[in-house]
Amino acid sequence: MALIDYKCEKCGSSFFEIVKSSDEEIKCPKCGSESTKRIYKGKFYGKGGGCSGGSCQGCSGCGS
Ligand SMILES: [Zn+2]
Repeated sequence: MALIDYKCEKCGSSFFEIVKSSDEEIKCPKCGSESTKRIYKGKFYGKGGGCSGGSCQGCSGCGS
């Protein structure tokens, strides 16, 4: 799992969600819009590229 920051493109609010899959659709908690944009943080995702959790070891992105 990963804690990922999102920003809603509709109302502009930023929030974070715990997602299990990168394909998961995230809705804005404020306005319910699905037009949310994932905000990548270079520190977390720059090295591994795409940590899928589960078998990950020592990845700072998923915390497992
Ligand atoms: Zn919104």
